[in-house]
Amino acid sequence: MALTLATDDTGGPEIFASVQGEGPSAGMPVAFLRLSRCNLACVWCDTAYTWHFEGDDRPHRNGRTFDRKANQVTLDKRDVAERIAALGQKRLVITGGEPLLQAPALAKLLDLLPDIGVEIETNGTTKAPPHLDVRIDQFNVSPKLSHSGNPAELALIQERLDAYATDPRAFFKFVVASEDDVNEAAAIVRRHTIPPGRVFLMPEGTDSATLRAREEWLVPLCLDHGFRLSDRLHIHLFGDTRGT
Ligand code: SF4
Repeated sequence: MALTLATDDTGGPEIFASVQGEGPSAGMPVAFLRLSRCNLACVWCDTAYTWHFEGDDRPHRNGRTFDRKANQVTLDKRDVAERIAALGQKRLVITGGEPLLQAPALAKLLDLLPDIGVEIETNGTTKAPPHLDVRIDQFNVSPKLSHSGNPAELALIQERLDAYATDPRAFFKFVVASEDDVNEAAAIVRRHTIPPGRVFLMPEGTDSATLRAREEWLVPLCLDHGFRLSDRLHIHLFGDTRGT
């Protein structure tokens, strides 16, 4: 069974070791697997090379589209598992794109990596089927707010958010650029009775100056709501680059 991965700057599959840059596991040493394809189209997406291919006229803020052949690579699950195992990490972060679009192949991949802990980053519109769900230690759910440009009926699937809200493995990470975004996130938290301690506000931004400026006004809002603040360590350390 094959998986469709994103490519790194060399054109190889985007599998690498680093520290997790965001959310509850920030700072942990992990292996990363970045899968290609997404079911949403966020205007500020910083991994548009996973979905915004030539011919796709959905808006993205920099207007750039990507050559699908150069930005996707399909590998057999055994090849992917060997590359992940070779990184020697105890924990795997599966990201994208939207990785749950490839749930059946992911479950088969994880059968080959029985001892690794698994964290998955998802936009929260999809659920993991049971054979994959049993292998997930942590869901980083990032529901997309109106400033993402996605229609709410695509981005905010109420029963999915209800299910993640009751799952203690699920942490919610809202990408915010303005106080209005925080208010929208807080309304979602109330509607789905999400425990505030499992909610992160993370500034939208792909450079350190933007992140720092937004974190300054986010701190008092985190204090008001009881939410947690997420930085984006990888941006400070490596900039907006692939394979980091
Ligand atoms: Fe990008 Fe994530 Fe939005 Fe998909 S859901 S377009 S990967 S930010």
